[in-house]
Amino acid sequence: MIVIKFGGTSVGDAQRVANAIDIVAERREQSPIVVVSALAGVTNELVAATEAARASDIDRVNQIIAAVRQRHEDVAMRLVQQKFDFFESFIKQLDKQIDQIHTILRGIALLGEITARARDKVIGLGEKLSSVLFAYSMMMRALPGEHVDSEEVVITDSRFGEAAPQMEETRAAAQRVLHPLIERRLIPVMGGFIGRTRDGATTTLGRGGSDYSAAVIGAAVGADEIQIWTDVDGMMTADPRLIPGARVIDRISYVEAAELAWFGAKVLHPKTIAPAVTQRIPVRVLNTHNVASPGTLITQEGDTRDSAGPRAVAVKRGITVVHMTSNRMLGAHGFLARLFAIFEELEVSVDLITTSEVSVSVTIDEKHNLQQLIERLKPVADVEVRENQCIVAIVGRNLMRDSMVGAKIFEAMRGIPTSMFSLGTSGLNLSIVADDADADRCVRAIHAALFESPVGVT
Ligand code: ADP
Ligand code: ASP
Ligand code: MG
Repeated sequence: MIVIKFGGTSVGDAQRVANAIDIVAERREQSPIVVVSALAGVTNELVAATEAARASDIDRVNQIIAAVRQRHEDVAMRLVQQKFDFFESFIKQLDKQIDQIHTILRGIALLGEITARARDKVIGLGEKLSSVLFAYSMMMRALPGEHVDSEEVVITDSRFGEAAPQMEETRAAAQRVLHPLIERRLIPVMGGFIGRTRDGATTTLGRGGSDYSAAVIGAAVGADEIQIWTDVDGMMTADPRLIPGARVIDRISYVEAAELAWFGAKVLHPKTIAPAVTQRIPVRVLNTHNVASPGTLITQEGDTRDSAGPRAVAVKRGITVVHMTSNRMLGAHGFLARLFAIFEELEVSVDLITTSEVSVSVTIDEKHNLQQLIERLKPVADVEVRENQCIVAIVGRNLMRDSMVGAKIFEAMRGIPTSMFSLGTSGLNLSIVADDADADRCVRAIHAALFESPVGVT
């Protein structure tokens, strides 16, 4: 059994859906389960619809929803191949889903406010529609695609917008729903990104979360492999949009891939690796636009031929640095405990930390309520905040084994102002905090120094 996940651009239009279906057809003997994202751009449109509804701009809501509906109808129309009965059934399903979401949006527009629960219901629509479309499109091409409602399988907690799958219940549901289909040689097709709480409310797993869904479903069924099909040749030494000369990494370990994803390599959602690790399921990142390319294989061992040194550089933007100085005696004990109790209480997670005897600096991302955090910290510490920062992370196992690596990185950063450096104790990443405005130039300089120099380390 394998899980095949297609990202938004891989199902962006009729031609791409057709290509994706060919990819599934070629892997039919491996008992695939298909997980699809919303068609490219649709989730952003749905987010815009929730915002328009909150602003009671009903014309804009109607306009967005009509365009989303039309886009799905157009793709289905182009794929129909004389199978008009399938097309008509698809349109019925499409209208039913669209009507339901439209009613919710009209309710939001009337009240002028939105709950996290209603928001998830709306923004999860993209995956519902794309998965129904994909299953029908498979049937139109005489393949046994069977739509499965992800909400029947992926059971989550009730943190709307960032829900956590409950693995035991999800495993039981997968056993009940997916296994019988596979036994009948049908190909289940599910939407990524969405799940459901125990009491039946739709949840989403966080933006970009379809990768995570694929891994959760893969772990739930005990898949042999989880394939993430996207629009680049694999995990690369840097984001190829920023560094056109970035190279594909053919093998990488779970820990390295997870670290890269956490520090901003968007090609994988940061939570994707964890469910795979628990059962040692290999994850492969592949390119729908270049099927012949071998992609990146992510396993426990990673690259056994070359187990040390930098593998890639990633950047996480929109970071805030919070610098806290003890306003009591120097070296007073309990200072860190008091600070972190506040972070814990406000559920603020920290990426990087550096300390001196009297002060500590941490980075947090933009999702958190900064003002509230500052107010709560004030009685314990003098607080300075620096916004619009980025973290540039160089990732690789035994990163600093070769002392030239550190030298090259520091040399590359010459002339670029930085405010924090942190070498992870696992030796897995070196992170540098700089101004967001300098992010691109940092990545370019570091990539050039580590991966482009003629005798460079790779
Ligand atoms: P999908 O819609 O398939 O989920 P995403 O846009 O979420 O695709 O992720 C793929 C994108 O990730 C690529 O187009 C690329 O620009 C970006 N990316 C960022 N860092 C990396 C990296 N290190 N390797 C490969 N791609 C990366
Ligand atoms: N469609 C969702 C998003 O845009 C999930 C995903 O694409 O992975 O965030
Ligand atoms: Mg993605």
